[in-house]
Amino acid sequence: MPKTDSKPKAAANIAPGDNRQKPYRNPWFVVPFAVTAVLGMVVLRACGKGPDDDDGVNRSAPIHSAEAMQRGNSLAGRNGAAAAKAPAAKTAADSGAENVSPKPRSVLCTMVYPTTVDLARPDAKNFVPTNPEHPESALFGSVRTGSDGRARFHKGVDIAPQKKDRKGRALDSVYAVAAGRVAYVNRVAGDSNYGIHVVLLHSDPIGDVYTLYAHLASVADGLKVGQTVEPGTVLGVMGNTANSAIPLWRSHLHFEVGLVHSSRFGAWCDENGVKPNRGNFHGWNMHPVNPLTFFPHFARHATTTFGEYLATVPAGVELVVANPKNRIPEYFGRYPSLWNGPVAWSGPIVLSVSDSGLILGGRPANEAECETLAQSKARAAILAVHENILGRNGVRLVAKDGKGWVLGKALTRWLDTLWY
Ligand SMILES: [Zn+2]
Repeated sequence: MPKTDSKPKAAANIAPGDNRQKPYRNPWFVVPFAVTAVLGMVVLRACGKGPDDDDGVNRSAPIHSAEAMQRGNSLAGRNGAAAAKAPAAKTAADSGAENVSPKPRSVLCTMVYPTTVDLARPDAKNFVPTNPEHPESALFGSVRTGSDGRARFHKGVDIAPQKKDRKGRALDSVYAVAAGRVAYVNRVAGDSNYGIHVVLLHSDPIGDVYTLYAHLASVADGLKVGQTVEPGTVLGVMGNTANSAIPLWRSHLHFEVGLVHSSRFGAWCDENGVKPNRGNFHGWNMHPVNPLTFFPHFARHATTTFGEYLATVPAGVELVVANPKNRIPEYFGRYPSLWNGPVAWSGPIVLSVSDSGLILGGRPANEAECETLAQSKARAAILAVHENILGRNGVRLVAKDGKGWVLGKALTRWLDTLWY
């Protein structure tokens, strides 16, 4: 293996497949990493303030490293979380907080990080950009640019290996972040741009939350769909697998967390000839949140839920959409707390959507909004675009052209599968 493979220096090291992912220099993301992280924490302090924060009880719930969980040992010194000489799966969240908070518990309150890197205290050296000159390209959002000059949305964070062998291969174990079940395993590297990857589902009061672990070198022996996992269960080994080459020096874990768009996506793939059919666990059907706001939220709140976290995620676009089936989408059957209206509703609906295409909330459209939709003569109309949140088009549900914001190409499939 040439020596340059382990030295991320120049764009020349980036393999052809990677050149399609040239990072975009968005001033928002070029704020120095540490400052961004601190700002993120400050925002979370403000946005995440809830009943838990108001009674003076310190319920800080450090997220444990998986290795410490397995050792039943202290984290201190590894990633800065509080010392916890507790048995595996015992966290501060278990230490009495539930006695004063009757709300449903989320398995996400007992989490580990997916590798030994502390994602509540992000540090640039722990992430792997597509180009070393653009550290933001390792992060979540509209942070990359394709060869066509258009923005590419990066749906997760690319976490750097902490251990490599002499040939530069990553040795880091990849861990399930929380209790859950294995929903999907792909062991064929060339089968997906996620490469060899695993998807888990976790039970939260909001409904099922997915986590995804991509570009693995290998999946743990015997890991199979339907199997239950605990926080810290080894899922595999970090790698650089994908359907287009990721150079060895860019070995990393691509980690995602979010909600599943449609529970009938596999059937939609069958009808539309999408292959391979991954059931519900195709990238088009999984809408993520930013792991670097997700983990700090759960690190700060001993008893919280994904729904409380989601309330801190800003909308990128608000749409009024036609209701072709005269019912609310089954999305709100699986995530009922995100629907704000009568269960039996047959009229147009208003959707509040994140930059990644995740539906943050829905409600019946009012008369003026119905009129906006009718005048558009389309199946959806834009009510508001929050450009500072959407970055460069987000996932292109809406897109900016010469005249302003218009419906984007990705909206058709997104609406088709929502109502399928
Ligand atoms: Zn990635």
